[in-house]
Amino acid sequence: MNILLLGSGGRESAFAWKLSQSPKCESLFIAPGNAGTGIYGQNVNLNVTDFEGIKNLVLKNSIDLVLVGPEEPLVKGIHDFFLEDEFLKHIPVIGPQKAAAQLEGSKDFSKEFMFKNSIPTAASKTFTLETLEEGRAYLATHGLPIVLKADGLAAGKGVLICTSWDEAQEEFTSMLRDAKFGAASSKVVVEQFLQGIELSVFVLTDGKNYKILPEAKDYKRIGEGDTGLNTGGMGSVSPVPFADAAFMAKVEERIVIPTIEGLKRENIPYKGFIFIGLMNCGGEPYVIEYNCRMGDPETESVLPRIENDLVEVLQAVADEKLDEINLKISDQFAATVVCVAAGYPGEYVKDKVITGIENVRGSFVFHAGTKLENEEVKTSGGRVLAVTSLQDTLFDALQQATLDAARIYWDGRVFRKDIGFDLI
Ligand code: ATP
Repeated sequence: MNILLLGSGGRESAFAWKLSQSPKCESLFIAPGNAGTGIYGQNVNLNVTDFEGIKNLVLKNSIDLVLVGPEEPLVKGIHDFFLEDEFLKHIPVIGPQKAAAQLEGSKDFSKEFMFKNSIPTAASKTFTLETLEEGRAYLATHGLPIVLKADGLAAGKGVLICTSWDEAQEEFTSMLRDAKFGAASSKVVVEQFLQGIELSVFVLTDGKNYKILPEAKDYKRIGEGDTGLNTGGMGSVSPVPFADAAFMAKVEERIVIPTIEGLKRENIPYKGFIFIGLMNCGGEPYVIEYNCRMGDPETESVLPRIENDLVEVLQAVADEKLDEINLKISDQFAATVVCVAAGYPGEYVKDKVITGIENVRGSFVFHAGTKLENEEVKTSGGRVLAVTSLQDTLFDALQQATLDAARIYWDGRVFRKDIGFDLI
């Protein structure tokens, strides 16, 4: 089978690594990929939203299946583009159509979806420029802290947690009236603050059947002890000790099943991964957000624990036969430590030569912002690579991943040495 994987992050490196292990994978193309995905397949220099370019690539290389890594092409309708093209419509795309990708692309849509399907989530109300004054009056009566969310995609920056009414009023007005996040904040969701511990649950569905994949916890802040600015993710672990069987049973019954049933009832076809961002509030799960793809860096901790042939699993999604797959999940613990460039998540330094990857002993190295230049691997992004270790105990996995992260070096390399240790 010829497979095309779209994306260029650590998530895609982990997918490329896993897909290439399948005897069913004859050739693997990654667009645009990075220096690491090039180890497992052929990188093609194409933007993930260049649908015409992707069409040419697919037809030229007789691609049999497309796996979409990031959200942007999904929200922009890559799956619909395939279905509407007479030469592409028979080629399965793993990743939802535009209508379902709105679960991630519009926070207002996802809140409405949750309310309609009685899925536990924070109470909220949505406002627009027309209802600005009504919104300001609503804020004045709201308890603190107040969570403000730009409706659309805002590169992970569109959520503000305001600890005073003045701050909330100012930010709310700036989002709606001054378009603080551009078109993304033409609607603003005002949400109740949830107190708890976060985790991510991943579901794979063919639209009829579903499988719950290993859950994970990610670490968003740049600094140790969860301090400093938010990032795309500095590390992750799976499984999550506090997501015990009783908690996961509640997640399945109250969230996963109503989500799949809600999509069916609303005639929203969905073939792909659903990322459910959850808050565990005293043992009760509440949905914070849906994403229409796998998380990064969670994928780097989740995929190593899945023992099945991923190509077989994705083919079953395409054929709507996911019920025939017996998902085998390893009992081992996976820990991922992300190494980032100096300055990240602000303006960061690029083009630094990376050394020491060959010294890594007990971990997988998943490249993210890397490129190959004159036979040297160099940094090209903020999050440069992810180091994942799979071990019998969480402590060993964390220790090994941290040790191996330290073996990789470039000028200005930063990583957190405390990922996951709060869970022990
Ligand atoms: P991401 O970068 O993860 O895609 P996003 O911009 O889509 O983020 P959310 O995931 O909805 O936004 O929120 C970002 C973060 O803000 C959450 O991970 C969580 O830590 C916090 N958060 C969001 N909603 C709430 C809430 N109701 N109560 C408490 N914290 C919240």
